Amino acid sequence: MPDHQAVIVGGGFSGIGAAIKLDELGIHDYLLVEAGDGLGGAWHWNTYPGVAVDIPSFSYQFSFEQRPWSRVYAPGSELKDYAEHCADKYGLRARTRLNTRVVAAEFDDDAHLWRLGTDGGEQITARFVIGATGVLTQPKRPDIAGSDDFTGDVIHTARWDHDLDLRGKRVAIIGTGASAVQIIPSIAAQVAQLTVFQRTPIWCLPKLDAPIPWLGRQLLGRVPGVESVARVASQAFVELTFPVAAHFAGLVPVAKVGERQGRDFLRRQVRDPVVRDKLTPRYGLGCKRPSFSNDYLPTFNRDNVLLETSPIERITPTGIRTVDGVEHEIDVLILATGFKVFEAGNMPPFPVIGSRGADLEKFWDSNRFQAYEGVSVPGFPNFFLILGPYGYNGSSYFNLIETQMRHITRCLGKARDAEATRVEITTEANDRYFTAMLGRRGNQVFFRPGCDGANSYYFDKHGDVPIRAATTAETIWRSARFDLDDYRYEKLPA
Ligand code: NAP
Repeated sequence: MPDHQAVIVGGGFSGIGAAIKLDELGIHDYLLVEAGDGLGGAWHWNTYPGVAVDIPSFSYQFSFEQRPWSRVYAPGSELKDYAEHCADKYGLRARTRLNTRVVAAEFDDDAHLWRLGTDGGEQITARFVIGATGVLTQPKRPDIAGSDDFTGDVIHTARWDHDLDLRGKRVAIIGTGASAVQIIPSIAAQVAQLTVFQRTPIWCLPKLDAPIPWLGRQLLGRVPGVESVARVASQAFVELTFPVAAHFAGLVPVAKVGERQGRDFLRRQVRDPVVRDKLTPRYGLGCKRPSFSNDYLPTFNRDNVLLETSPIERITPTGIRTVDGVEHEIDVLILATGFKVFEAGNMPPFPVIGSRGADLEKFWDSNRFQAYEGVSVPGFPNFFLILGPYGYNGSSYFNLIETQMRHITRCLGKARDAEATRVEITTEANDRYFTAMLGRRGNQVFFRPGCDGANSYYFDKHGDVPIRAATTAETIWRSARFDLDDYRYEKLPA
């Protein structure tokens, strides 16, 4: 018998949502394993200045646990607090193990269970495993010559050191992705000099953000229906700005409208035409993740902020040298260089050995990323993913969690009814789904002209973008209606 009916790997919102939904199904014997010393995932690790959601908070929360947020786009600390609140309210603490990293997982074909190894040398067995480890979790340091030579302070955005005082310092930041967009305006006024090293400009759009006043919060929290109206409006906005814009670009020109808006925004916000030109993206909106901010672009009007677009030649003991020979002397180097995505060891973040020795990383490497409905992979029984390939359609991450858990709990419910100890997606069902996803590429922004030069982390080495080409409504419908016989259910011989 396994130690637990289920192990959930990862204590971010995916893991929290998975635990709540397992309880709802009546599976109470689970263990939630988290590598960090707290829950909340991205919101536990990312505490850099200015960190906040960039999907309206009315959407960026569980549908069953809504709260009156302080702003339309809540700060990261509020999300961390929300994670802790969910863990307490839904009684997850006693079944949570922090500071425990899963380093290996292997399926036992004879016993129909998973054996998980931890960094503490322990073995935990479970009938079912839910992988809730996210993707953007392992900080990526840039592959720049001399990276280790710098003698000042070096900090990655996802591992912020709050003891580091930036006041009056000469600071450089490498990268202009979503993290940098939030940090740059937050620190510019306190540092002596901020040099921003940009390789590819980001599309930056207006952020419809504002504090939600006391009265608004009362209305949201107490008057029936107000929260739902706010949520529906917010969902519609999110749907239009990502899934519709990205997956139906060939049919609905939302991205073109957004590009016009982005260029107007840039014109209004940045005074110097040379700087403005450098900040202008030369690729289509949606090819890589855009950002929403009202104060990122105007930061480049400041006298103490320099936008450097000459490629970096090397990092030196005292700063950064660009290929034009300019030496930028600095005290602090901020790496806003993102996370591992398709690099080896990230998807999955630990070796996953399925039935008859199948290796998940190798399977994906040779067969391209794929998973039935983004949840399960043939050859890996009793193993379910929240953020598997072609699972996330780009709307709120909370939609993804609830949708994938609806799928998973339907399967586990059927397994329980059938007293099955082994549940595996069939190759035919997986192939059908993968083929359908590839067949939808024609209208996706990623595969239309315009993405050259985006340098987007969405694309893997095969040129695939394993994001689910579907509306949110379709993902919800599919999770409730997919054919449960797409899975094979088996029972251990007595
Ligand atoms: P990112 O989007 O991957 O951006 C990394 C940046 O570093 C890019 O500008 C990249 O340039 C640059 N870079 C990387 N290596 C470099 C090198 N060797 N030399 C020069 N530049 C280099 O990372 P991120 O900003 O941390 O964001 C990652 C993701 O986290 C986002 O896309 C988003 O999904 C999520 N996020 C969300 C929020 C939120 O508000 N909810 C906030 C932050 C992050 P290139 O573009 O040329 O590669």
